[in-house]
Amino acid sequence: MELLDFTRKKLEEKLLENGFARFKASQIMQWIYQKRVFSFDEMTNISKSDRLRLGEMFDVTPVFPGETFTSSDGTEKLAFTLSDGNVVEAVIIPEETRCTLCVSTQAGCPIKCAFCRTGSLGFRRNLTVSEINSQVLTAQIEAEKSGKKITNLVFMGMGEPLLNFENLTDAIEILLDDFGFNFSNRKITVSTSGIADKIVELGEKTKVNLAVSLHAVTDEKRDKIMPINKKYPLKTLLKAIDSYPISRKMVVLEYVMLKNFNDFPEDAAALAKIANRYDAKVNLIPFNTFDGAAFEATPMKKIIDFQNILLAKNVTALIRKSRGGDKLAACGQLGRVRIK
Ligand code: SAH
Ligand code: SF4
Repeated sequence: MELLDFTRKKLEEKLLENGFARFKASQIMQWIYQKRVFSFDEMTNISKSDRLRLGEMFDVTPVFPGETFTSSDGTEKLAFTLSDGNVVEAVIIPEETRCTLCVSTQAGCPIKCAFCRTGSLGFRRNLTVSEINSQVLTAQIEAEKSGKKITNLVFMGMGEPLLNFENLTDAIEILLDDFGFNFSNRKITVSTSGIADKIVELGEKTKVNLAVSLHAVTDEKRDKIMPINKKYPLKTLLKAIDSYPISRKMVVLEYVMLKNFNDFPEDAAALAKIANRYDAKVNLIPFNTFDGAAFEATPMKKIIDFQNILLAKNVTALIRKSRGGDKLAACGQLGRVRIK
């Protein structure tokens, strides 16, 4: 059994079943997530006989990145080779006042959005809780080497987080746990292509920030670039966002700017209407190209015009700086090796 797969609650249950005291769970988690000790031998506030038994029951084997790539702008991509040979990536994005880690939840992605490199590579499998949180644990270690501290987490790496719901929410539970990573829910954002029923469930389970990849404001256009829209059309998606129970300022709408497709003034006007419904912030994402991409990027001048329409309608609209492009670490470029 891999210990990093257990939330505290699940670990307590397992320990009780095996005759250990419940509080051992928090002790063990503190050693792992706060002191980054991965060997029971070194967990000195646990008795030697307990350590031996724990060692027989559990493995503590975070996945460490096999390779790291640093972009000229300071963005650092960590590539993890999993035990079955699949490769996933996480990206450290240092900014002036914070340092964000972009986390993957699946090897590949089954959603196949037309503008996304990860989607074009196909789907392999869901990541385990341990594989998700190993990215955070090892990125923290990596960031500290250069005096940085990971302050924010975004589930915007490879994969659709809400299609790996159980593992995602268990991973988040450990990220928020006082004895785990001890992150605040305001520092964690889950980005989804719009799995409406799971948005509702996520809202019931946790209170992290929600980012929705909208990218088009009519079903006709959204169908063309996001096949998931056929299953959860805009009306269903927007209703699901309505049900998200947290402060509305924590909802972000993402909108990738595709030349002569979704970058017209009428798109901006309709987007403003949707954003105002939730008091949501809009992130305009310049399209990052890749080999074989079917779209081109909207020129920056036109993105600014689009942003101005939103601002004039009182929408907080930011243009996302593209980072890490020279090492294929930018949004939608993840997936170093071709996944068959
Ligand atoms: N699957 C989730 C999270 C990962 S994608 C989702 O789709 O929300 C993270 C963000 O990158 C999404 O908003 C996605 O639409 C965007 N993205 C994908 N491909 C891109 C590209 N080629 N250029 C810019 N952004 C892209
Ligand atoms: Fe998957 Fe998100 Fe890429 Fe769409 S944009 S293919 S949901 S990773």
